[in-house]
Amino acid sequence: MTTKEKDLKYIMRTYGRYDVALVRGKGAVAWDEDGKKYIDVSSGIGVNSLGYCDDGWIAAVTRQASTVQHVSNYFYNEQPANLAEKLCEYTGMAKVCFGNSGAEANECAIKVARKYSFDKYGEGRSDIITLCNSFHGRTVTTLSATGQDVFHNYFFPFTEGFKYVEADDISALKAAADEKTCAVMLELIQGEGGVNILDREYVRQLVDFCGERDILVIIDEVQTGAGRTGKLFAFENYGVKPDLATVAKGLGGGLPIGVCMCSEKLRDVMSPSTHGTTFGANPVVCAGANYVFDTLTAEGFLDGVNEKGAYLEKKLLALEGVRSVRRMGLMVGIEIEGDAHDIAAKCVQNGLLIITAKDVLRMLPPLVITREEIDEAVKILDKTLKETGEK
Ligand SMILES: *Cc1c(COP(=O)(O)O)cnc(C)c1O
Repeated sequence: MTTKEKDLKYIMRTYGRYDVALVRGKGAVAWDEDGKKYIDVSSGIGVNSLGYCDDGWIAAVTRQASTVQHVSNYFYNEQPANLAEKLCEYTGMAKVCFGNSGAEANECAIKVARKYSFDKYGEGRSDIITLCNSFHGRTVTTLSATGQDVFHNYFFPFTEGFKYVEADDISALKAAADEKTCAVMLELIQGEGGVNILDREYVRQLVDFCGERDILVIIDEVQTGAGRTGKLFAFENYGVKPDLATVAKGLGGGLPIGVCMCSEKLRDVMSPSTHGTTFGANPVVCAGANYVFDTLTAEGFLDGVNEKGAYLEKKLLALEGVRSVRRMGLMVGIEIEGDAHDIAAKCVQNGLLIITAKDVLRMLPPLVITREEIDEAVKILDKTLKETGEK
């Protein structure tokens, strides 16, 4: 059996896949089992932030794997302790909780928010407002948090206590918030929702409004965090400080991690046995994340992300068939003439790994992508747009 045949026979079909089996990669380049080369501007959905097989990352991960690969949460280990210190010192947050995915990080944030409110105000003040078109994960609770009807199917009953309001509409938010609201949860750029960049003034007003009412602001930086938007966290670009922020995808550089960070006023909300997960704070994963963190925060690295993003945007806007570009750092949504899914599939055939979000093409290139690789990616997209335009 081929890899594809085996996969289709033995793995539950929770994904539609492109007809490609990737076997190895380096930087922004990947190869399939036939040796065909691809430029990857998706980074495994923003996960391989330093590209494939970064030398320093490999060294950090293999060193830790051959020192101690796992310790249970009954013991201390320096890797998660160091990572927690770095994240807190950089952001001004007080504490973190480690998990293994974005959805888990969001679950943790939801639990912290509800417990804070329960401890202080008692039962009943547990509602969380999220935004229409958001995406917060695939667990039963984070599906509930996701403000899109298509996700509220089959798996009933969903977790109660979520309300949805339109993004960028501060009156809608104010109208929805009541004495039962404990938190508002939002992405600053809705990634899965189509790379929709929230309005700065709206976000500032939202944070102020919530602050006055002791409603916690949870920013889901699962996709926007870890340098993706040209700052370590997108909330820095907005000049706001959330009460809780979650980060996952790009932080581990390719290994599974999800982190929930909380502010000073929440530092002691969680106590032993209120939350946990066997694999959370894994030393190998955290060694990789420590390396990613050090790389992203090194002098000039994030400036490079912004410069490359601007360079990519300019080249994209010059293409026939590109209507507009929505971008922050290297998080890019491209409105095109024609069907985005169709064009993404053809790009893959032409050697460009690109993804979509709703009806836009989406690029989340590795943050280490070079200008030459950007040129090559844009050339393949141009060729593909022309081919589909001609038909
Ligand atoms: C991907 C994503 C999630 C879910 O993360 P998983 O690691 O797939 O559980 C949650 N929120 C946002 C904004 C995401 O982009």
